[in-house]
This record gives sequence, C-alpha cells and structure tokens, in this order.
Amino acid sequence: SRNLSVADPALAEMISSEVERQHQHIELIASENYTSPAVMETQGSQLTNKYAEGYPGKRFYGGCEFVDQVEQLAIDRLKALYGAEYANVQPHSGSQANQAVYFSILKPGDTIMGMNLGHGGHLTHGSPANLSGKLFNIVPYGLNEKEEIDYDEMERLAIECKPKLLIGGASAYALRFDWARMAEIAKKVGAYFMVDMAHYSGLIAGGVYPNPVPHADFVTSTTHKTLRGPRGGIIMAKAEFEKSLNSNVFPSLQGGPLMHVIAGKATAFLEAAQPEFKAYQAQVVKNASTMATTLAARGLRIISGRTESHVFLVDLRPKGLTGKAADAYLGQAHITVNKNSIPNDPESPFVTSGIRIGTPAITTRGFKEAEAEQVANLIADVLEQPENAEVIAAVKAKVHALADQFPVYGK
Ligand code: PLP
Repeated sequence: SRNLSVADPALAEMISSEVERQHQHIELIASENYTSPAVMETQGSQLTNKYAEGYPGKRFYGGCEFVDQVEQLAIDRLKALYGAEYANVQPHSGSQANQAVYFSILKPGDTIMGMNLGHGGHLTHGSPANLSGKLFNIVPYGLNEKEEIDYDEMERLAIECKPKLLIGGASAYALRFDWARMAEIAKKVGAYFMVDMAHYSGLIAGGVYPNPVPHADFVTSTTHKTLRGPRGGIIMAKAEFEKSLNSNVFPSLQGGPLMHVIAGKATAFLEAAQPEFKAYQAQVVKNASTMATTLAARGLRIISGRTESHVFLVDLRPKGLTGKAADAYLGQAHITVNKNSIPNDPESPFVTSGIRIGTPAITTRGFKEAEAEQVANLIADVLEQPENAEVIAAVKAKVHALADQFPVYGK
C-alpha cells in the first residue's frame, strides 16, 4: 500500500477508509465474507498482466505455460472438492456462469422454472429485470404457507408447463433444498436440472449442507460468498456438456480469463478442502441459528421459523419497521445488513418488510455462539428504540469493542 499511497494518494485514502470500515463494522450481509490474505495475494500478483484466451493447452496467446498450470490446478481442485466430472473456472461472476449454462441448452422463448425472486430466488433465475427474464418464458415456483419450498406445487407446475430447465438455489432461503426431489421432478418432465449453489457453496464444501453435484446436470456458483474466495463464478457439469459450456463461456460470453482471480479460486479451493474449513462452516450455521433464536426471543419473526444454513430473513413488522428503515438505523450503529423482501411482502423491493442476516463474515473473524447472541441482542436493542440516539451510541460502542476484540486480518 506504500506504492499506492505515493502513486495515487486520493485512492489509497479511500481504500484505507474501506479497510477500517471492514474492521470496525459488524458485517452481516449474507453474500459477503473476508477472503484470506493468501487469496488476496494471488489477486495482486503479476498474473493480472497475462492474456490467456482459450483453455489450458489450447490458448490463442503465447507465454501461457505457467498460467496453464494455474488454471488446471484450479479445475482439478474444484472437481475434487465437489466430486464433479467437469469444471470451468473462468466465469467472471455468478451471473455469467448462469448465462453460460442457459445459452448452452436454451433458445430464446424456452420455458424455465426458477425460484420466485420475492420468495428468495435470484435475479438471474428469471426476474423480468434480468436478461434471463427477458429472453425466456419464466414460470416461478415458491414457498407454501409454512414458508418452505412447495415441492408438490413445483411438480404440478412442471407437469403443466413442461420447462426445458429447472433451477434450484436461492439468495435468501434459510432451509435445505431437497436436490433429489428436484432432480426427480426435472426427470419426470424431461427438463435439465441446474443448481446455482452460490449462497451455499462454502457450506457444501464444508459438509454441512447437501451437495447438489450428484443430482444436477449443471451446478454454478460464485466463489466469494460462503466459499470465501475471490469474486468470481464457476460451473460444474456432467462431462457430456464440456464442449458446449467451454465455448459458451469463451468466446461466446467472455474474452480473456482473469488469471489472477483464477489463481485466487485455486487457493480458495485448497483452503476449502482443509479440516479447519469444515469447523468454520459448522460454526457459521451454529451462529446463524443462535442469532435467529435470539431475535425470535426478542419478538421478531424469522421467515420459515428457523435456519439450516448461514442465512435467514427477519420479518420486521412486529416492530413496525420497514427493511429500508431498519437497514439505515442498524447502519448508524455500524451493523451492516441489507433490506430484503419477505414472502408476499406488502412493501416494494426498495422498501421491504424484512432484512437478511448472514453469518459467514462474523464467523471468519472468530465470533462463536456467545458473540452471535450478543450481536442479535444489539440488533434487537436498535430495532426496539430506533430513534433513541443514546441507544444507538451505546450499541455502536459495543460493536467497536467486539470488532477490536476480533480483528479481521489480525492487528
Ligand atoms: N446466484 C445467486 C444465487 C446469487 O445470490 C448471486 C449473487 O448475489 C449470483 C448468482 C450472482 O453473482 P454475481 O454477483 O457474481 O454476478
């Protein structure tokens, strides 16, 4: 950072403020994490300088002998981590990984089924605001009155609309998916089955959430959420899809791969295969469960009543607050969450009646159940008296004390 502070002091200052924010605030955004120094080192390495269009051994540029090794290592580690036949580590993001799958098996106008965005699904699973919703005919599935995925209704819809693709996975669903049941439904109607495990991929690598790879034709993910790697995407699939997936990533959707990020993915996959990672993921789930139980005891309503993962949604209506307001009040106390629609939310997606809470980041910095319970109580303190400046100040002081006790990258 000394080089940057000389070359571009204004920017160095912004980065240093962000580093301080990441240390000082309690980070509860379910899709975020603190990646390891080793992963960060890969991304600041000279690999950023290299063009390598193509795939290992089949490049369009010279000088690829070492980056070939890097990419092959990432592919081999990823396949071993989840037990996949084929892997592509080049997608720049989770969205592009999903697009590559869509374009390898679908044509515009085809029918696909994905989880309703308002029930916890992701934009790329068919939201009208996303290319997936513009190009394909979307039939969403969702939750039943217990706020659990309604597989019977999913099956009924699939039989009725005969989708070409059934998509599993979500951005805000706390419970376990039944991958076997979804694979059975897809098979029954002759659909391909894809799982976007972006939110759960770290839990799955750690063995605390079911692995979709044995059940699905395609599995996509981001690498930067629970998996704790660099920002990016990955695809795994049955071997038969290798040719079409490779060509749909490059040259169809992307140009040169980001070799420094692919190196970061390789390191993250190595880290994810260690025993400590299993212990970390088990703690992520325990912390989420502790927070959900504590918030419920303080009078908030947890969507689906519990969590079986790293994430859950909180219905704020018992406290008469919107998601937008709660997000802002908690932000004043340096607790970072995101507003989130809850199932059948009467408020717009910009306001919402809920917040989403996730524990990957706090668990990386070392929080266990005792701290998770404390954080949940601090959240409840703010939500009970959101206009009370003294309460906000007291909570903020406790947040900073906790942060100093558990420095993210050591001090
Ligand atoms: N898929 C799911 C389930 C997600 O939750 C997300 C990110 O929030 C994505 C895909 C998109 O990933 P990216 O932001 O890398 O495009």
